[in-house]
Amino acid sequence: MEKALELRSLGNTGLKLSCVGFGASPLGSVFGPVSDEQAIDTVREAFRLGINLFDTSPYYGGTLSEISLGKALKAAGVPRDKFIVSTKCGRYKDGFDFSATRVTKSIDESLERLQLEYVDILQCHDIEFGSLDQIINETIPALQKLKEAGKIRFIGITGLPLGIFRYVLDRVPVGTVDVVLSYCHYGINDTTLDDLLPYLKRKGVGVISASPLAMGLLTESGPPEWHPASPELKAACQTAAAFCKKKGKDISKLAMQYSLSNKDISTILVGMKSVEQVQANVAAATEVGKDEQTLAEVEEILKPVKNQTWPSGIQQS
Ligand code: NAD
Repeated sequence: MEKALELRSLGNTGLKLSCVGFGASPLGSVFGPVSDEQAIDTVREAFRLGINLFDTSPYYGGTLSEISLGKALKAAGVPRDKFIVSTKCGRYKDGFDFSATRVTKSIDESLERLQLEYVDILQCHDIEFGSLDQIINETIPALQKLKEAGKIRFIGITGLPLGIFRYVLDRVPVGTVDVVLSYCHYGINDTTLDDLLPYLKRKGVGVISASPLAMGLLTESGPPEWHPASPELKAACQTAAAFCKKKGKDISKLAMQYSLSNKDISTILVGMKSVEQVQANVAAATEVGKDEQTLAEVEEILKPVKNQTWPSGIQQS
C-alpha cells in the first residue's frame, strides 16, 4: 500500500519540503556519467512523484550539476513557485573562498547556470574548510545583503563535523541562519545528528539531512572510489548490502526508510541520477510499514562501526 509523499516544514522558513529531496550532485557526473536527456527524465519523474526540493552546488562536477539541473528544471516547465532550489557558495573546483566578494559574485554565476531569477536557499558549502569566524563576520552578512536584493530567500550552512553548526548558531542572532544541511550523520550506520536536533528546533533552524545512503556505502553497487570512509566501514557496509541481497531485500530502501522516520528532519536529500532511483526512493518513503527484522539484522552487522566517521576540514583554533 502506498501514500502520497509527505510535506514537512523547514524550521521557521514557512517552506514545506517534500520529505524526499533531490540531491543533484550525481547530475554533475560525480557518481558516473549522466547525459542531459537522463537528467531531464530524472527531474521530470521527481516532479511527477511529488518531490519539490532540488539541491546543487557550483562545486558538484565543477559547475556541471548546476548547468544540468538548470536545463532539466526548464524542460520540466513547472511554475517557479512550485519548487524549491538550494545551491551553495564558498566551495569551488579550484578551492574554497568564503569572502564576501566571491560569494556575492558566485550567486550571479549560479543563477545564470540554473537559469533562475532567485534561489530559495543559499548555503555556505562545507564551512569546516574555512574560518568559522569569517563565515560569521563576513560571509553570512554578505548573504543577508543577497537576501535583501531578492536573489536568495533563505540562508544555510553545510558541513560534516557537527560542532560547526553550534559554533556558528551560538554566535549569530536567532533567525540569521535559516537552515543547516548535515550529511552522513543520520542513517543506519551513523545517527549522531540526533543529539543536535533539540538545539536546532529551539533555534527554529530547519534541518536538511543528506546522504541517507552514506554516499553510496549503503547501496548494492557500493561507494565511488573517492569515498573517504575507512576500509573497515566500507567492508561492514558491503557485508550488510550482501546480506540484504541474499535475503532478497534492498539495503538502499531500508536506509531511506530509516532516515525518513525522524520527523524532526525536514527532508532527506538523496542523490539521484535515474528515473528508477527516483521511483525506488519515493516508493521507500510512501510504503506503509517497515521491515523491522531486516533492519535489526543490518544494525547488528554495522554495530562495530556505528557512528564511525572521517576527518573533514581544517582544525579550528
Ligand atoms: P547519497 O547517500 O544520497 O547516495 C547517492 C548515491 O546513491 C548515488 O550513487 C546514487 O546514484 C545512488 N542511489 C540513489 N538512490 C538509490 C537507490 N534507490 N538504490 C541504489 N542506489 C541509489 O549521497 P549524496 O548524493 O552524496 O547525497 C545526497 C545529496 O545531498 C547530494 O546530491 C547533495 O545534493 C547533498 N549533499 C550535500 C553535502 C554538503 O553540502 N556538504 C554533502 C553531501 C551531500
